[in-house]
Amino acid sequence: LVPILLHFLYTAATPYTSLPAVLLIGPPGAGKTALLTLFERGPFYHNKEDTADANNNGKPTVTTPVSETHTTQVPHAVELAVSSPSSADPTSPGHVASYQTDLDAAGAQAKKFLLVDTPGHPKLRGRALAALAQDTPTIAVAPSPAAAAASSPGAPDAGNPPSKVKAVVFVVDAAALADSDAPYLAAAAEHLHDALLALQRRHRARKGSRAPPAVPVLVAANKLDLFTALPAALVKSHLEAEIGRIRRARSKGLLSSDRHDADGLDADEDEADAWLGSYGSDKFSFKEMLEFDIEVDVLGGNVVGEGPGADKWWRWIAERL
Ligand code: GDP
Repeated sequence: LVPILLHFLYTAATPYTSLPAVLLIGPPGAGKTALLTLFERGPFYHNKEDTADANNNGKPTVTTPVSETHTTQVPHAVELAVSSPSSADPTSPGHVASYQTDLDAAGAQAKKFLLVDTPGHPKLRGRALAALAQDTPTIAVAPSPAAAAASSPGAPDAGNPPSKVKAVVFVVDAAALADSDAPYLAAAAEHLHDALLALQRRHRARKGSRAPPAVPVLVAANKLDLFTALPAALVKSHLEAEIGRIRRARSKGLLSSDRHDADGLDADEDEADAWLGSYGSDKFSFKEMLEFDIEVDVLGGNVVGEGPGADKWWRWIAERL
């Protein structure tokens, strides 16, 4: 009994126990780390212009970046809280409070979650995709420096229990997408294609009639502060067109290979498994993913500069936790 109690106490004291996770993925340079930092600063985030503002209510201002682009092999996570829809933001009743709202001060009910950044290293990209391919996607994250410091040095390194992935945010640079000659669109679309296919395959691989837990995907069209950036509607259509090209090209690759005969697998079954969206459809549309219970939304925003900001993304996340 004692070891069980000790284990219980230990896990209860671990800050990461079973908090739901939201996974940030996307091409390097899209703004994942910048977004993580923005949300981490939360109510303490101020633009330089706001500093002189009398509405600061004496909140401390964070002047040093909380997170920086990192080169570790383990995904990095920050613990965040959203107001639950029942406890409305006093300034916008019935809605999720902005990430800039101090939930403690507002007396709101908070729901905690982990925002997990997967650095652009190809190895880690593979790890994030592998995580999404699980029936119930989970991801193990590195403890925050604070949590690591809080655990006593002699404590057994049990590792963090993996967190259930509740949603995926695919961050893309909408200004880089505007340049149709650049390889950026092809690379970004391939990354998104692979992530969606990993999620889709869970449906075929499932045992019995039980559907795997739904994992919605937000395509965050970032950098809309730049006048060269594509609006969200065009980011959507460009990605859909490119993903359509990718799945056609891959399907031809499958047909030309002779592996179907070699291993006796049902060729149709095999090809359908590798085909993203409605099998055999001509043009790809994100709506097709609903067949597999995968909701895909494309919302524009920006982390730095003047523009629509990041509140839409925050609300999207909050509504899916
Ligand atoms: P990551 O590789 O996806 O983590 O990308 P980073 O967060 O490191 O961002 C890459 C670069 O894009 C940095 O120089 C950021 O300052 C910049 N950046 C991020 N978000 C925005 C944005 O909304 N607008 C503009 N103009 N630049 C941004």
